[in-house]
Amino acid sequence: MLPVPAFWMLLACVSAGSPSGVSVPLSEPRSLTEPRSTLEMAHSLTTDPASLGALSLGRPNHGALVNAAQMASSDDWEVVSPSTAWATAETIRYLERAITHTAKLHPGAHRLHIGDMSREHGGPIRPHRSHQSGRDVDLGYYYLPGSEGWYQLASERTLDRSRSWALVRAFVTETDVELILIDQRVQRMLYDEALASGEDMAWLDSIFGFRKKHPEPLIRHAYGHRTHLHVRFYNPRAQSLGSQASEALAIRGLVPATKAVGSLARKNGTRNKPAPGSREDLLARLRAAMPKNVVTRVSAAVVPPRRLPPAYPGAIAAARATLQQAPAR
Ligand SMILES: [Zn+2]
Repeated sequence: MLPVPAFWMLLACVSAGSPSGVSVPLSEPRSLTEPRSTLEMAHSLTTDPASLGALSLGRPNHGALVNAAQMASSDDWEVVSPSTAWATAETIRYLERAITHTAKLHPGAHRLHIGDMSREHGGPIRPHRSHQSGRDVDLGYYYLPGSEGWYQLASERTLDRSRSWALVRAFVTETDVELILIDQRVQRMLYDEALASGEDMAWLDSIFGFRKKHPEPLIRHAYGHRTHLHVRFYNPRAQSLGSQASEALAIRGLVPATKAVGSLARKNGTRNKPAPGSREDLLARLRAAMPKNVVTRVSAAVVPPRRLPPAYPGAIAAARATLQQAPAR
């Protein structure tokens, strides 16, 4: 690991125009977060990383997480495993918003179970492939009385279809969701419920993958998702900061771009493991999350417009009007 002065000399060199000829374009879109020069970013990373807030690094299947927040249980949800309930502030905010929205529309539900999110510093987490960068969440469906519980099979007999649909709908309409994984048998039950409640069929067909009507549906089938659903959010801020941080450290090979997360994890198993939260620890995690090729590094997130229905059904519109008049919780 480079001592601090060498680190700073390299970064100062970069900021002064990269005289040795290594050219890394710095023109990534930055409108989603406050403008921050490479030098500012490097300064923050090395002197006061907590000031940056959450950074989502790399990709969901090969990434890391810096300055994560831990999801806590509430009246409306229950965290199953606190040690794997870490995420970016954006992910937690989206999750809380969708569940709170559902609970207000359909009071009296059981607490929703929140399963694995990420580990505190992200990276590999068994038995998942993703969940590495603070943007993925496993959570339960809403079940009928007598079937509540984490990891219950969702069936005609057990699934609370109206509440579960309201939850999925809230993810689509109230958050910047990137994808939702739901077994297609459960998708069919939710789709039927939505259609019966008056939702627009064309809109439903654009979000439900089992209908095979849209090239990029938000809700996709994945094996194993009859007992829970998996939600991945865009994190405009944390992804943008993560991209900038990778850029700041990757310039001039300051962060070698070839280290795999697995090899880093093995290395971290030795007694040389840096102290959690130390600068060395932070740099190690940043290095682990670097894409293999710096030139084709992970870009900041470009969040597409939300896929909203053409109009809210009357009952939901009325409920929304009521909610807007109610005092904030
Ligand atoms: Zn998952």
